[in-house]
Amino acid sequence: MKIKNFINGSFQNPVANEWLDNYNPAYGKVYGQTPNSSKTDVELAFQAAKNAFPSWSQTSVDTRSKILIKISELLETHLQRFAEAESKDNGKPLHLAKSIDIPRAASNFRFFGNAITQFSSESHESIGENAINYTLRQPIGVVGCISPWNLPLYLFTWKIAPALASGNCVVAKPSEITPVTAFLLGEICNEAGLPKGVLNIVHGLGTTAGQAIVEHPEIKAISFTGGTKTGAAIAKIAAPLFKKLSLELGGKNPNIIFADCDYETMLETTLRSSFSNQGQICLCGSRIFVEASIYEKFKTDFIAKTQQLKVGHPSQNSTDIGALVSKTHLEKVLNYIEIAKTEGKILCGGNQVIIPSFKNGYYLEPTIIEIDNNNCRINQEEIFGPVVTIMPFETENNVLEMANQSEYGLSATLWTNNLKRSMQFTQQLEAGIIWVNSWMLRDLRTPFGGVKSSGMGREGGLESLRFFTKTKNVCIKY
Ligand code: NDP
Repeated sequence: MKIKNFINGSFQNPVANEWLDNYNPAYGKVYGQTPNSSKTDVELAFQAAKNAFPSWSQTSVDTRSKILIKISELLETHLQRFAEAESKDNGKPLHLAKSIDIPRAASNFRFFGNAITQFSSESHESIGENAINYTLRQPIGVVGCISPWNLPLYLFTWKIAPALASGNCVVAKPSEITPVTAFLLGEICNEAGLPKGVLNIVHGLGTTAGQAIVEHPEIKAISFTGGTKTGAAIAKIAAPLFKKLSLELGGKNPNIIFADCDYETMLETTLRSSFSNQGQICLCGSRIFVEASIYEKFKTDFIAKTQQLKVGHPSQNSTDIGALVSKTHLEKVLNYIEIAKTEGKILCGGNQVIIPSFKNGYYLEPTIIEIDNNNCRINQEEIFGPVVTIMPFETENNVLEMANQSEYGLSATLWTNNLKRSMQFTQQLEAGIIWVNSWMLRDLRTPFGGVKSSGMGREGGLESLRFFTKTKNVCIKY
């Protein structure tokens, strides 16, 4: 499968005709090629976007909304095709791609297609001055969207949809590790009637194509989701160019379990929050803290449930844990498991899984590590795989301190039926998103993003529309 860049509404080879291998993680084999785009390709994409901008920014909100909703409907029509492509490219179970990733990508377009019709700005009457101020929110121009490999189409569209809805034209780059559904999206955009050049998708490496987007002097806003180190590198380039920046970065999220929680719901949800998508979700709760009085029971039950999870080929319905995304990533996670052997005790898992018919695939057992110290590397560094730690705690203060003792602050999960404690913890936990007695319950209207090294800025709902517009205040004296 040879995928191409999507520039000015047509599919194009990279100018230098250079290509990257694309691997199927379930087999560990090359199954396609991706453009290794250069600065020249980004420039072509930028020019197409720039040319499309005057017309798109003046297109009525109603028309923009209809096109976005049409894209959403077409994604739903092609659910099976997109889900199969996502699963093959990323290694995630097909049933997950079908029930979560692709429906969410469709929801992103529907949500922002509707949201833009409700977007409004403020006016302020300056009483006594005989003046009225009103605020314009205008599209920025050409904006850049860069997304990671873990939720490929889901996160790609989470950026693109609000950018387009707000009247911007886009140069976007998906991860070169999982480019296929972004490639397929181009076809759908044409079918939905998105004008040429409004969305341009350039494939290639972060350090070349991605960086060319960030460095481009006329691309005035960058929405980025990915690792914290990459986010810092991007900020360093973008800040002196005075670009608007939204950075959604890594996490090392605490999952705090009190004895008074609804135990069975907590156990089922904790299994998901630990191992969904092979633990490759920025929101996974990888540091599990359990109140000492139920620690032994939790440990036994959690191990038993984890051992029932089936590691297998992503296309099989019975598979709970598919393949990790790449050989490099598998090796990174295995390296952390080696570190875990000195820092804690592996309670279950810890081994690569060799499935005879797909013996080169990147499979790993879901792994639980018992630790006694929150400051160890496996509790401080993002592993981003099916690996969690567990440790007991004695008091509220003790667990709150450990939960906040992290460079990251993306999300936190709290399990308790004590209202007072819920209120105190939600006030004091250092995270951008807190779930009480749930996990990954997402309402697209809510602000999404992290604190500390987990990022800067918020996406979601009106926050996204505000990010993708520039604000101008007009003061009229009468
Ligand atoms: P990376 O930071 O490696 O890459 C993210 C994207 O940025 C990719 O498209 C990558 O391209 C590109 N990129 C890399 N270097 C540059 C650069 N110098 N300039 C511009 N673009 C660049 O992250 P991963 O893809 O490995 O994704 C995993 C990370 O993403 C984890 O840390 C995870 O926590 C985080 N994440 C955060 C989320 C959030 O909402 N906070 C949600 C999901 C994931 P290429 O793939 O070619 O390197």
